[in-house]
Formats: sequence, C-alpha cells, structure tokens
Amino acid sequence: RPVVGVLALQGAVREHVAMLERAGARAVPVRRPAELSEVDGLVLPGGESTTMSRLLETFELLEPVRARIAGGLPAFGSCAGLILLARQVLDGRPDQRQLGGLDVVVRRNAFGRQVDSFEADLPITGVPGGPVRAVFIRAPWVEKAAGGVEVLATVPGPADPDTGPDGPRVARIVAVRQGAVLATAFHPEITGDERLHRLFVGLVREA
Ligand code: GLN
Repeated sequence: RPVVGVLALQGAVREHVAMLERAGARAVPVRRPAELSEVDGLVLPGGESTTMSRLLETFELLEPVRARIAGGLPAFGSCAGLILLARQVLDGRPDQRQLGGLDVVVRRNAFGRQVDSFEADLPITGVPGGPVRAVFIRAPWVEKAAGGVEVLATVPGPADPDTGPDGPRVARIVAVRQGAVLATAFHPEITGDERLHRLFVGLVREA
C-alpha cells in the first residue's frame, strides 16, 4: 500500500486518515520533516490557511514540503489545503505563505457571508459513479487557472446583488488537477464517500 501523509498541524486530519485507509493507502500524520520524508503522497487538510501557514513555519515544514511538492510529490489539498497549494491568494493575509504546486489564483472565503456554508451534488471529472456530495465551509474558489491545470468541477457562484437571485451566475471552479496535484474547495473527507481519495491514491500509485 502506498504511504500517504496527512499534514497534522491543524484542521480535519483524522477524517482524511480514515478516508485514505478506506481508499487503499496507509495513512500517517505528518508533523515533522523526518515524517515527511517517508511518504509517497501528502494531503493538506481543510482548516485555516493563515494558521496552517504560520504552523508550517513554526514546525520547520514550509521549505521541506515546498521542496517535495516541487520535486513531484503527489499532493491533495481540500479547502485551506487548496489555498496553500495555490500560486497566489486573493483576500489572504499579507504574511500568508504558499507551498506552490498549483498554477492557480484562489480567492479566500470567496462565496461570501450569506452562503458561508452550503452543499451541492457535483459531477467531477475523473470520479466515476455519479455526482459527489460536496460540502463547502467558508470555501475559496479558483479565480484563475493556468493552461496546464485541468478543471474537474464547477458550481454556480453566488447571485450578483445588481441582478438579484434570478440573474446570471458565474460558474466557479471548485476542483482542479495539475499533474499529481489535486485540490478541492470543498471537504471530501466528511461525507463518507471516498471516491476523491481513491482518485488521489491512484495518482500516488502512478507517480
Ligand atoms: N476559510 C478558510 C481559510 O481561509 C478555509 C476554510 C476551510 O478549510 N474549511 O483558510
């Protein structure tokens, strides 16, 4: 079984560990550089990207994780994890640090106050067996994706205050893949559906 680490500084760690095990991986928490060096793939869980960025520095993991991802380590980010993987963050904090890996621009807390949290059934490219229940919690979206980034899923964005609830809605990107790096704006670890984790474990096996 491939060994997949879950960055365990903050956030939804246990849920990812459980889903990875169900998806056929051996899942291990990662808190130290020595633990990072033993994994074949890494999950960056949801939580608070600004807090996680600070903890990555405190635990001296920022550079090691960056280096491994740059070296081709498969990575899977959900929500705050997507934010960490992005090349650039809009509405982030000035001291927020990026791991890189995804040539995208994300907007933090993008869906706005009224729809802080919502759920949707999303068809996702590469995930067989019908739509995936996606839970969004103060979620970001991908505002811009470079040519090498595959868009796997979108949702209609919030209504524009000028045109009202029946006005047109912009489709917002909420799942992407670039090579062995996968990311979702939602939380695939909390619904009991391990298909996205299976997709990721497949990428780890291929790598
Ligand atoms: N809003 C959070 C952030 O900016 C992400 C929320 C989440 O991971 N559920 O990091």
